[in-house]
Amino acid sequence: MSQNEDNTQNEDYKGYRGKALEKLREFEAKIWSDVEIATPGGNYVGFILPRSETADDLHIVVKLRTGYNIGVACRKVTDIKINGRKVANYKIPEQDFPYDKRKPRVKLFGTGGTIASRLDYRTGAVIPAFSPGELYGSVPELADYCNLETEKLYGVFSENMGPGQWKGIAEAIAKEIEKGVQGVIIGHGTDTMHHTSAILSFMLQNTPVPIVMVGSQRSSDRPSSDAALNLIHSVKTAADSDIAEVLVCMFGPTSDQYGLLHRGTRVRKMHSSYRSTFRTIGDIPIAMVDRNTVTPIRNDYKHRRNDKDFILKPYFEDMVGIVYYYPNMQPDIINSMIDNGYKGIVIAGTGLGHVNKPLYPALKRARDEGIAVYMTVQTLWGYVQMYVYETGREMMGLGVVPAANMLPEVAYVKLGWALGQTSDLDKVKDIMLTPVAGEITEREPSNGYLIYQGGIPEVEEFISKYKK
Ligand code: ASP
Repeated sequence: MSQNEDNTQNEDYKGYRGKALEKLREFEAKIWSDVEIATPGGNYVGFILPRSETADDLHIVVKLRTGYNIGVACRKVTDIKINGRKVANYKIPEQDFPYDKRKPRVKLFGTGGTIASRLDYRTGAVIPAFSPGELYGSVPELADYCNLETEKLYGVFSENMGPGQWKGIAEAIAKEIEKGVQGVIIGHGTDTMHHTSAILSFMLQNTPVPIVMVGSQRSSDRPSSDAALNLIHSVKTAADSDIAEVLVCMFGPTSDQYGLLHRGTRVRKMHSSYRSTFRTIGDIPIAMVDRNTVTPIRNDYKHRRNDKDFILKPYFEDMVGIVYYYPNMQPDIINSMIDNGYKGIVIAGTGLGHVNKPLYPALKRARDEGIAVYMTVQTLWGYVQMYVYETGREMMGLGVVPAANMLPEVAYVKLGWALGQTSDLDKVKDIMLTPVAGEITEREPSNGYLIYQGGIPEVEEFISKYKK
């Protein structure tokens, strides 16, 4: 065994190599030691964490008392005082959910994502390693609301979700509704939660019970994690609320005042790291939720029922794609999709729904070869309006169909779903332009764009500073 292998495999200094390892050895500071590290810039108090195997050999990683992890440059370390050592055990106990016959039965399906993750200190990455039973073990309040049953369907980050998983989830929910479940929760990575919420709204229509998608932006080992509260809000919604729709349940404002329930076809992840990342686009959210109450903020939602008259349509044509237009885009992109057998293309165009003239011959070719092409807007808010400018009218002449105010991702999954049912383009158009679950609305509410972007209290607080 080489010196290097010896070092990286040494449990006491797990993951550390080179200069960082030398520094730790100098002070006999092993991983999980409770330390005070002195540097000219200040002292750091906390636990030494194992180091990611792929990370550099120049930093020592410390979990500070605040719960945040920082990397201290080892060349700056002048002293390490050891106050103790406690090897952490990150296994969360699996616990059986307590049964109370007066409470509703709710099913939680796990699919992966940060909500089902904890930090893997070996690689430094967040890994899906957290079963639904462990979720209960860490958030026991869930038992106040319902009898929760859990089942792990998948264990992936949400970029790996796709048609196979979408169908699998829709079918699994349908089985639960048949068995009389009173609410369903789907734990899911946030990155593509809005794709899944949209496709489930199409695949599983007229649900008699709430279907609530939930995730978290920050993993549960972090003090600012939103995992527990989002989970509590989703369980409250699934168990008690009167809203029988596919919903996304995530933080409303940036702080933990309340969650918002967004309609599955009108929601989008809008911030890469804020916990309040999900926003209803082109509309207002359906309701607010806290630990005690679900408060509707609109009244046109579908209500909970006792029947099982839902419709299951788990279809999807894989050969569909989105093209995000940018200035100077060349027709080769559209041509290659045609050459590769794509059956449907959604364009996210500029402004009211435009692309440049060099793309026209490729669009004409797509039409002549029987490919369904739909236009959406990059602005996200607002409608495609192809009658206003010459460009729009010309493109409609080339067979491009305006998709009203469907969000690009929603139009993408709907087109895959429509083409999964028929290849008759007139029928596809009928399906595409007939609203199923709020994906096309007659108008945008005038207050939606301005007010609900930051959460009502935050906007009011902001404005009050200027309105004295
Ligand atoms: N990359 C993760 C996912 O979407 C992020 C998250 O869960 O929030 O699976």
